[in-house]
Amino acid sequence: MGSGQVTTSVPSGPSEFQGKHVTVAGLGVSGLPAAKALHARGAIVTAVNDGDDARAREQAAELEALGITVRLGDGATLPEGTELIVTAPGWQPDKPLFLAAEKAGVPVWGDVELAWRLRGPDAAPWLAVTGTNGKTTTVQMLASILKAAGLRTAAVGNIGVSLLDAVLGDEKYDVLAVELSSYQLHWAPSLRACSAAVLNLAPDHLDWHGSMDAYAADKGRIYEGNKVACVYNVADPRTEDLVREADVEEGCRAVGFTLGTPSVSQLGVVDGILVDRAFVENRHKNAQELAEVADVDPPAPHNIANALAAAGLARSFGVSPQAVRDGLRAFRPDAHRIAHVADLDGVAYVDDSKATNTHAAQASLAAYEPIVWIAGGLAKGAEFDELVAASAKRLRGVVLIGADRALIHEALARHAPEVPVVDLDRTDTGAMLQAVTEAKRLARPGDTVLLAPACASMDMFTNYNQRGDAFAAAVRELGA
Ligand code: ADP
Repeated sequence: MGSGQVTTSVPSGPSEFQGKHVTVAGLGVSGLPAAKALHARGAIVTAVNDGDDARAREQAAELEALGITVRLGDGATLPEGTELIVTAPGWQPDKPLFLAAEKAGVPVWGDVELAWRLRGPDAAPWLAVTGTNGKTTTVQMLASILKAAGLRTAAVGNIGVSLLDAVLGDEKYDVLAVELSSYQLHWAPSLRACSAAVLNLAPDHLDWHGSMDAYAADKGRIYEGNKVACVYNVADPRTEDLVREADVEEGCRAVGFTLGTPSVSQLGVVDGILVDRAFVENRHKNAQELAEVADVDPPAPHNIANALAAAGLARSFGVSPQAVRDGLRAFRPDAHRIAHVADLDGVAYVDDSKATNTHAAQASLAAYEPIVWIAGGLAKGAEFDELVAASAKRLRGVVLIGADRALIHEALARHAPEVPVVDLDRTDTGAMLQAVTEAKRLARPGDTVLLAPACASMDMFTNYNQRGDAFAAAVRELGA
């Protein structure tokens, strides 16, 4: 997205890329601006791409017009003479291209590493966020708080806004709110954020990283070299372990967030108030009120945790309590993240189509009771026992859709045998209307019908947006 202007602001001095043979692996959101930025700095760029479809050809034509060599349909072989690879973050580390690079001693950077290295001498510091779930929400909350403080900022990174655009564009920022995926962190060895947060850690993308330890280690990179604060989740001790393992700058503090009463050096909740016991004078005795739980939309427990993490990062940057409150009040979540669609006959219909893994779905199920749960889709190797066991007592009924619904059905049989289950044996797009009809039949006044699939959507839909839209359309059809 928005790859247009990045080549404009080229520093006048000599570039470390002058005459260097750089291979850009993967066209698209990050590859195109990376290739252009490197080319503009004198690098001899070859762009390689696995696919050879219409879109890739269009992008190739754009690069070739600048004099950049493009190789479509072959992302596996290392071009002759390559001295550096800049890869799209999603490319898996065990690809033959990287194995060849390792053998030849060629370094590999991701888009984040490139942006970090290309940022100017008086560039805005980064407040960075990662975690299995809640990244986008937290980064948007953070940007809203920073804006309320009068700072020039943007939510960037793994959120659809290229870091290269933000770093090299003409817009001046005081600070950036940066969302980083585990892939991006894997390929960003020299990144040093001002402060950073790991929101939570649950198994996800393990096929890419190889193991839970490798996944956690990549997430933990976000704390490396932090200057002011490493923000961790008290309820998820692995995030604190990552802080302990990180090599940070002298004076950088570990700051926890908790849904309970905060200890010293933590942010937490007391009697419905979000409070700060980390960035206050005399924190052994004092706590600073920041906002009310009701200021956070939606006020679901996991989202309060997101708000506390965002507040912690903002406070580490010197933002006032007032701005934290104003920023949280101004924040509205993106679509399909616990979006309240409608109330029909006393039943609330909530779209959390973005709950594409079990950890996210568990957070969402913890926010309501009783629930008619619509779940299923592509399981991506996940197991459902923990999720179902933790949520069983809240369930009025379950409607299952999608390719891997049998896995959830089996977990329900093991941990919630009393709960009625409707198993829809179809994966066409129209199945959603039937699913919502069944859910409506199971629900009683006061219940919530919750779409929190715990699975990816691509067996039935283009993406989670389309799945959520289909849910909302079905609800409207039934209410009409
Ligand atoms: P990400 O950018 O990490 O995918 P989002 O902010 O887009 O995260 O939220 C994705 C989904 O994850 C939400 O729809 C919700 O179901 C769940 N979620 C959000 N925050 C949390 C959290 N702190 N812990 C667990 N699940 C969460």
